[in-house]
Amino acid sequence: TAKSSAEVIQREKKVSANNYDPSPVVITRGEGIFMWDVEGKKYYDFVGGFATLNQGHCHPKIIKAMTDQLNKLHHTSRAIFHDSLYELNEFLTKQFDYEKVLNMNTGVEGGESSIKIARKWGYRVKKIPQNQAQVVFAHGNFWGRTIAAISASTDPISFDEFGPHVPGYQIVPYDDLGKLEQALRNPNVCAFMVEPLQGEAGAVVPTLGYLKGVRELCTKYNVLWIDDEVQAGLGRTGKMLAVDYENVKPDLLILGKALSGGVYPISAVLGNSEVMDVLTPGTHGSTYGGNALACKVALASLDVIISEGLVENAFKMGEIFRSELTARLNKDKVVQVRGRGLLNAIVLNTKGVSNVYKLNNELKSNGMISKPIGSGALRFSPPLIITEAQLREGIDIIVNTINDF
Ligand code: PLP
Repeated sequence: TAKSSAEVIQREKKVSANNYDPSPVVITRGEGIFMWDVEGKKYYDFVGGFATLNQGHCHPKIIKAMTDQLNKLHHTSRAIFHDSLYELNEFLTKQFDYEKVLNMNTGVEGGESSIKIARKWGYRVKKIPQNQAQVVFAHGNFWGRTIAAISASTDPISFDEFGPHVPGYQIVPYDDLGKLEQALRNPNVCAFMVEPLQGEAGAVVPTLGYLKGVRELCTKYNVLWIDDEVQAGLGRTGKMLAVDYENVKPDLLILGKALSGGVYPISAVLGNSEVMDVLTPGTHGSTYGGNALACKVALASLDVIISEGLVENAFKMGEIFRSELTARLNKDKVVQVRGRGLLNAIVLNTKGVSNVYKLNNELKSNGMISKPIGSGALRFSPPLIITEAQLREGIDIIVNTINDF
């Protein structure tokens, strides 16, 4: 029998770790850009599974690829070959112009694997003395929740009381080439890992020229540039990769999230042989990484992004989203609308909006799912399949709710 939202929430909370504080809505079905709760109320999903559902909920092509493969072969160990991994990795290397792919599952594993590759490259190729390798990160970074990831975090709630932390890390300010250069002068630095647009920090867009500068500095100091496009990549920002805004190529590229359209955990690290070949049999692995089901799901997810023109659509819809909201939202409620493509944030005027969680609840009552970030901003990352009419309906809900709040 159908359970009410209240009952589901109460039962889930009683038996589940308390590491999230979800908005009180219980979803039972999703289709395209919409979701329905257990009471049958319909919502615009403007969180999109944390920028994962670029292809929307239950995209028929991805679901078909998944169910077809499920009935044939879902998993083998990597102790043997299966007949789908070559297909995915040929596609990825051709699409993104790299020579090799490392297949993992979650975004954080992509980041952690990249650091392992960079350290080994540092010892083998750059000749850094053993155990002295340094990795540089940017302030405000977010790349997951493992010990390696949170050791790089500048957010106390992620970092504190989880030590001892991973050594060999340095933090520089985001979007600051001068400070980056100072850090890279240290000959023991093997890598700089950075998001091309900071997602979890609240759609923080760097100054045009930053990514080009990162490329130049990493080349100058013989440091690997690890580009974390787990959230920003695959069309989300209105380009296939966010680094395409400056036509630059990182040494290692991390993809995740939309690589499966939110259907299944799939991530990948791409790089050229000179770097990737530091991995040799036994040095790294994953039980599920590169399994047959994941490969077919990823191929279908990429096909949808390309064949349905989602990159171009994200660019166009993003322009409308930001310009409409900037023009229509009251200045006493909102100080800034920022982002690229369909990865955007609204920075609230905390004098006009004292409680972002209350505002988020109000949006929910009006049929819009959004995500508060910190105490003063809301994040919006709807599926990239959104039509202009749907986008404008969503904008109306946001404008009316915020201006009346
Ligand atoms: N990197 C970035 C830029 C992210 O935004 C995230 C998740 O939000 C991750 C890595 C971690 O991905 P996952 O949660 O799949 O481990």
